[in-house]
Order: sequence, then C-alpha cells, then structure tokens
Amino acid sequence: MIKRVDHICIAVKSLDEALGVFNSVFGFKASHTETLPDQGVKAALVPIGDGEIELIEPIDPEGGVAKFIERRGEGVHHICLEVDNIDEELKSLAARGVELIDKQPRKGLAGMIGFVHPRSTKGVLIELAQKV
Ligand code: ZN
Repeated sequence: MIKRVDHICIAVKSLDEALGVFNSVFGFKASHTETLPDQGVKAALVPIGDGEIELIEPIDPEGGVAKFIERRGEGVHHICLEVDNIDEELKSLAARGVELIDKQPRKGLAGMIGFVHPRSTKGVLIELAQKV
C-alpha cells in the first residue's frame, strides 16, 4: 500500500550551491548529508513538514545522475512514495508488467528502496521506500 509522498528529489550540479539557493529562497536547512558511492551521489535531506526534499549531486561523472543533468539540466529527478511493504509492492508491480529498475529492494537513504522505470510512469522516475 502507498502511504504518502516521502520526498521529492532534485538533481543539482553542486550541493553546497543548491543548499545556499534554497536556504536564501525558503530558509531550507539540510538535516543530514551523506555520500552514497554505490549510487554515485552526495545527498542532502531537507525536512519539510512530514516530508523531505532531497538534493543530489553526482560524484561519478559517468553515473546516471551526471548523465541526467547533462541531458536534462538540473531539476526534479524522482519522486519517492512511502510504502508499508517494499517486497510486496515490487512483486505486485512486476506481476502487473510494470518495468522495474530494482526487482529486489536495496538499502537507500530513505530505508529499503526500489525504483520503478520511468518508461512505465510517464517519464517520471518513482522510488518506493519502506522505512526501517
Ligand atoms: Zn530518493
């Protein structure tokens, strides 16, 4: 079951520069910054109410996020939906023919996560996350 929007992720060229911009525009402050080498990014989480904005900066020039910014510029990268059971959700989507990037859940910043391919969701990358 989908519970809520957990976070919206924005891909940026520089985390420090972007945090400065969002801080001066909206007063946003990162609660947490982390480097995720397996995803090729440095990420910052900005809490807003019971949701978050995630900012990601590529650290791997050959990685997916660097390529995303090259192709489409900085901007919204994905939307994350919180689910109550990530295993069930991924299995159910696969059974209905939805194209998945992750067939098995893996550890991410938002908990146990799995990505749905944007080919199945109108060009929008969707992350599903179960809090741990
Ligand atoms: Zn995310």
